[in-house]
Amino acid sequence: MTTSQSQAPFLKVLRNIPFQVDRAILRQQLRLKPNSHHLIELDCLIEQAQTIGKPKAMVRMVNVDDKGENWVQLDGRRLHSRVLRVNLEETQRAFIFVATAGLELESWSKSITDLLQRFWADAIQELALETARRALHEYLVQRFHLGLLSEMHPGSLDDWPLHAQDDVFALLGDVKGEIGVSMTESKLMHPVKSVSGIAFATQTHFTSCQLCPRENCRARQAPFEADLFEKRYTLSK
Ligand code: SF4
Repeated sequence: MTTSQSQAPFLKVLRNIPFQVDRAILRQQLRLKPNSHHLIELDCLIEQAQTIGKPKAMVRMVNVDDKGENWVQLDGRRLHSRVLRVNLEETQRAFIFVATAGLELESWSKSITDLLQRFWADAIQELALETARRALHEYLVQRFHLGLLSEMHPGSLDDWPLHAQDDVFALLGDVKGEIGVSMTESKLMHPVKSVSGIAFATQTHFTSCQLCPRENCRARQAPFEADLFEKRYTLSK
């Protein structure tokens, strides 16, 4: 993997993340049996995606300047979230990031006209995004000798709604120029297979899913804990 890096403020761009599709996982996700007549077609798509795909990530380290009851100030910018404020209680630094499957795979996917293949291409892009996220996570853990690293994402909780995407992009800088990811007027990202957020060292692992009651979410990473918000995040009276 090759990378580029500037000095202070710490900024890192991962541009050449190796992308290899785990075929067994993909077949399982797509519910294709080992003897399916679709496998040759799928293998062909995978080969194309691995050649074209360039998952990427961008991260900037920020200092925790100040804290209020419902906000934290990172490098002079105030972010409003009680959950984020509590999660950053024990740390003086955090990592703002965007990871993406990349524009290359998005364009490739849009060029596919067959509906079934388009569905498969979508799943391949999700694997590419996961590859970028994992590479970023591994980079941060190694570079900063971190133990556990947790994340929060704008829009995953009412406490930190999607419009906080403005803060992420403002703190990161030229996200479009560096890794091709832009923010739409509705605060979503393009390419769609991108994720933004803030990562931070924690003693116990945190995921927003613990505070999210949404049912039947395929992306859920941890069970909903009904009493967690009250136990850990409610303001003391
Ligand atoms: S359960 Fe689903 S919607 Fe809720 S925070 Fe987790 S991934 Fe997001």
